[in-house]
Amino acid sequence: MKQAAPGEFEIIRDYFADAPRGEGVVLGIGDDCALLEPPVGRQLATTVDTLVAGRHFPADADPALVAGRALRVNLSDLAAMNARPLWFTLALTLPESDREWLQGFADGLLQTAREYGISLVGGDTTKGPLTITIQVTGSVATPLRRDGAGPGDAVFVSGPLGAAAAALPVILGERPAAPALEAQAVNAYYHPEPQLALAEAIAGLASAALDISDGLLADLGHICARSGVDAELDMAKIPVASLARELAGPEALELAATGGDDYQLCFTVPEGKVEEAIDHCRQRGLTPVRIGTLVERGTGPAAGGRVRCHLEGEEWRARRPGYTHF
Ligand SMILES: [Mg+2]
Repeated sequence: MKQAAPGEFEIIRDYFADAPRGEGVVLGIGDDCALLEPPVGRQLATTVDTLVAGRHFPADADPALVAGRALRVNLSDLAAMNARPLWFTLALTLPESDREWLQGFADGLLQTAREYGISLVGGDTTKGPLTITIQVTGSVATPLRRDGAGPGDAVFVSGPLGAAAAALPVILGERPAAPALEAQAVNAYYHPEPQLALAEAIAGLASAALDISDGLLADLGHICARSGVDAELDMAKIPVASLARELAGPEALELAATGGDDYQLCFTVPEGKVEEAIDHCRQRGLTPVRIGTLVERGTGPAAGGRVRCHLEGEEWRARRPGYTHF
């Protein structure tokens, strides 16, 4: 006999009650609020992100993969600030409360939570179009911000770009791929790795940082705008993901420059600290790549910061500027 669809109370009791309870959780799921103890001498970093089925992920996607990605994307924002993950809350809007979907979602979510040592401390469920909202909080001693960069600073990215954007047509079923490539595509899109270790390595040395969610050029533009500088990039230096090359061929560089969803970090370092920053990364087995330099803000009508790209001595222009939300 088919089990009755769980109500809100049952959803929390059956699927999320044994969520990991880590640092600072005085009282977790089950009361009106969670009670949380902030770590002494550190600031709290908090952010929220909403994913809508059909817009941010395919509605029929594996719920465990969707859950893992939803949490990883938020953890990436903590990494971008050099914040250590502490707690998160979940607001889940479901068209129907389907036990199989919920079990998969909870498994994916809690497994990822354990992997990154972050505690689920509260949640809410409502009926409606499938939407996942996760709010994360971390603690930080040495924050990485967007507004501290200056002319002359070196521009780095933490790792290969373009894989997730190249994977998207495969994920959406718009492009066939051999099983091995399809597995890589699923991994690239659903398992972005929050760059927490890299953030720690560059903390106190980097002048600005953010995670690349909307595309390198668009996101570096945010650093430029907030810091009042322009950027010049050598496109030959961009680390293009091998998956992007395999799936997108000659389009790979375009995807690396403008494709979102890789969640690598883009960061800037004053010239005098570059060597030390690279050293700190190497000690942790990390190899960020220098792709350009910040320059004085030029004159002109541009309201935000401008990113100029060169390839083999010629100006290089992206055909599309990056992901826009509206
Ligand atoms: Mg971000």
